[in-house]
Amino acid sequence: MAPGDPILGLTETYLADPRPGKINLGVGIYIDEQGRIPLLPTVHEVEQALVAAGKPRGYLPIDGLAAYNRVTQQLLFGTESSLLAAGRVATAQTIGGSAALRVAADLLKQVAGAGAKIAISNPSWGNHHVVFRTAGFELLDYRYYDAASHGLDFAGMLEDLGKLEPGTVVLLHACCHNPTGVDLDAAQWQQVIALLQERKLLPFIDMAYQGFDKGTEQDATAVRLLEASGIEAFVVANSYSKSFSLYGERVGALSMVGADRDEAARLLSKIKQTIRANYSSPSTHGASLVAGVLGSTELRARWEQELGEMRSRIHAMRAGFVDKLAVLGAPDFSFINKQAGMFSYSGLSKAQVHRLRDEYAIYALDSGRICVAALNRSNLDTVAAAVAAVSG
Ligand code: PMP
Repeated sequence: MAPGDPILGLTETYLADPRPGKINLGVGIYIDEQGRIPLLPTVHEVEQALVAAGKPRGYLPIDGLAAYNRVTQQLLFGTESSLLAAGRVATAQTIGGSAALRVAADLLKQVAGAGAKIAISNPSWGNHHVVFRTAGFELLDYRYYDAASHGLDFAGMLEDLGKLEPGTVVLLHACCHNPTGVDLDAAQWQQVIALLQERKLLPFIDMAYQGFDKGTEQDATAVRLLEASGIEAFVVANSYSKSFSLYGERVGALSMVGADRDEAARLLSKIKQTIRANYSSPSTHGASLVAGVLGSTELRARWEQELGEMRSRIHAMRAGFVDKLAVLGAPDFSFINKQAGMFSYSGLSKAQVHRLRDEYAIYALDSGRICVAALNRSNLDTVAAAVAAVSG
């Protein structure tokens, strides 16, 4: 019997809980004010047009829908990108961000051979470890979260990255770090990138929450700074699951940057070989939706607004939660306002998380990670009162 996934397992326990008014903050999805997963109006509009067109469903090419890969490159690297102009980026549509990670892991392992190593932030999204371990990597970690300040242990991070062997892959969250919500600012990115370059480490950016902190452009700062640094090679795995609220459609992409156009062509050939051996080709529907929205100037502008509404609601929930906890006389939780994206490392201990679950039917991860995007005006008071009670 294989062990269950800790996050999905928690949702199963939550679903089986008979208590009315139970609240699940263990999820990794954005939930709107009405407690629903939104269907974005722009996505719905494109979907209706697709249905009306009644198109046949042939196979996509191994690397997916060309229009989707094009708009993805523009969103990740920017319309003015010199890397794109030079043809240095190989991009393939993948089955969510997860398959982008797995395809890249398989490919990089094949190239690196027995000595393949990856450094992952401590902590990180649990599946990072699973994917790279399964692909045959040796896993290393670098310091990241500082429990005392509820912020970044930047000195520790630099020290640990500085000790890695050349050729080690370094996995970095572009923004809205999962699970902590703690991100690097632009100056810190610059320092990290200079170190990676000097130590000949391979930057691997995982961008699953573009647009959930400050906006699509600003949240791509890491990618823009990597481009500006002149570094020869780096990898970007991105996901539209959250930014398009298309979780089950499995929309993501893998982009690999090479030294020149020829290397990008070789990278694409390797990406396609790896995809072919895994799942042959990706699926049509989700990619058509994303390509339809991002490919239209008008729809793209409206999508940016829809994304902005999700982002603002999360910011409002963070602020509201911190204020309510302060009014209730709880210990200082103001650090939650500094964290970014859907998640917050709340600082709650495992024992406190278990009390929340057992006494208040409020579900969070044992690590103390809560999904701020699952808070709304109806459950905020209940959650704040329970958190104040268990942390007092
Ligand atoms: N990376 C991170 C950091 C994530 O949080 C997630 C989703 N939870 C993914 C990648 C995978 O995204 P997808 O659901 O599109 O496979």
